[in-house]
Order: sequence, then C-alpha cells, then structure tokens
Amino acid sequence: MPSSPEQPRASDRPERATGDRPLGLLVVVSGPSGAGKTTIAREVQDRLDGVFSISATTRPRSGQETDGRDYHFVTDEQFRAMIDRGEFLEYAEVFGRYGYGTPRRPVEEHLSAGCLVVLDIDVQGGLQIRNNRPDALLIFILPPSDEELLRRLRTRGRDDEEAVQRRFAEAKREIDLARSSGAYDAFVVNDELAEAIERTIDLVQRRRAGDEGGGR
Ligand code: ADP
Ligand code: 5GP
Repeated sequence: MPSSPEQPRASDRPERATGDRPLGLLVVVSGPSGAGKTTIAREVQDRLDGVFSISATTRPRSGQETDGRDYHFVTDEQFRAMIDRGEFLEYAEVFGRYGYGTPRRPVEEHLSAGCLVVLDIDVQGGLQIRNNRPDALLIFILPPSDEELLRRLRTRGRDDEEAVQRRFAEAKREIDLARSSGAYDAFVVNDELAEAIERTIDLVQRRRAGDEGGGR
C-alpha cells in the first residue's frame, strides 16, 4: 500500500451530512488478543464522542461481560440467519470456532448522521472493511514485544495456559497477515498505554481533518 492512501471516489464516501455536521468516519481497530486494542478502542471512542459498534458473537459470554454492551451473544442459528439476511457489514469465524460479525444497520445509520464509529474486529474483518468501505481508517495495535504480549494475555485472567499459548500463536499469524496484506493505514505500538491512545486519537483526528498523511 502506498504511503499516501488513494483518494476515495465521492461515491465511496459515507453520506456527507448536510449543514455543519461533520463527515462520519469508520475506524477499525485490530490487533492480536492481549495487545490492548479493546482498551484503546473504547478510550478513543469515549474521548472523541464516537460510537462503539457492538458485534454479534456465538462465543459464550464470560463472567464480566454484559449482553448488549460488550457483545450481542447469539446462537449459531441466529448468527446464520443474520448472515442470510445480509445483516452484517463483515463477519468472520475467529479462532476457527466462533462467529463474530458487525451489524450493518447501526454502523450505517451513525455514519450517515456524521458520527465516528469504532469497530474492534480481527484482521479477517478488517480486510473485508478495506474492500467494502475504502474510506475507512484501519489501525493495527502491536504489542511492544513477545514477552509483554504473553504477560498481558496471562494477566487478563480470561484463559488457562493452554489457551494463552494458542492465542499467542494466533497473534503471530495475525500480525504477519496484517503486515503482508497492506490493508492497514497505521501500526501503533502499545507500550505506554497513554501514548498509544494519544497516537491513535491523532491518527483519527488527522483523517477527520482530511490530512491523509497520518501514518502508513
Ligand atoms: P485486547 O482487546 O487486544 O485483547 P485488552 O485491551 O483486553 O486487549 O488488554 C489486555 C490486557 O493488557 C488488559 O489487562 C489491559 O489492561 C492490559 N494493557 C493494555 N494496554 C497496556 C499497556 N500499554 N501496558 C500494560 N498493560 C496494558
Ligand atoms: P474476544 O473473544 O477476545 O472478545 O474477541 C476475539 C477476536 O474477535 C478479537 O480479535 C476481536 O477483535 C474479534 N472480533 C470481535 N468482534 C468482531 C466482529 O464483529 N468481527 C470480526 N471479524 N472480529 C471481531
């Protein structure tokens, strides 16, 4: 991908809101499990008054999660029906086990209203968004090192050691795919959290201001 992204055609852009309302912007935040993408995506959405897209997933809800806030937890049948009805902007099977998808309607409605919409999705989903929304800003969060990634996976406390090792191997594949695909506009190393958040906010604000030089 060239260092200066191609100018999208006018027809590819989200609907331009009338009057003084800002142009909606779709921001994808991806990264391997444990890199800190959810922490960063939520903070960016909050600080920039954006909207966080709530995905549908077939994976079981964990103890700390709330249905409708963290995810819409659905059955396999419900997920398949949503696919058949074309209700997803993108969807993927993650870790070869569970379905994850971005409900299309809320995203499109918020973009039309001029909002910033943040998606926390994997690379398979990011590649689909790159294809069907060329105007989206795609950011990939990297851990500072393998050791630190392993430490964060363990301190999340969600997985046993076997699952930690599986996520770690998957993380390496995901980073390789993100780099080789050329689909991502920027890579942000999440060493100091506050700095990574500032850098991500800066990328979003630059894109919103129409400054395309923000980082590939
Ligand atoms: P992801 O969504 O990429 O799986 P999370 O946002 O859930 O990652 O973060 C994984 C863990 O690492 C969490 O416990 C989070 O508080 C912690 N974390 C995130 N960023 C940092 C950082 N820069 N330094 C130290 N710990 C971090
Ligand atoms: P977790 O189960 O740890 O919450 O998420 C696992 C992975 O699925 C993460 O990489 C997360 O970004 C990704 N994910 C969450 N929602 C979606 C989605 O709607 N679409 C896609 N493609 N990936 C998602």
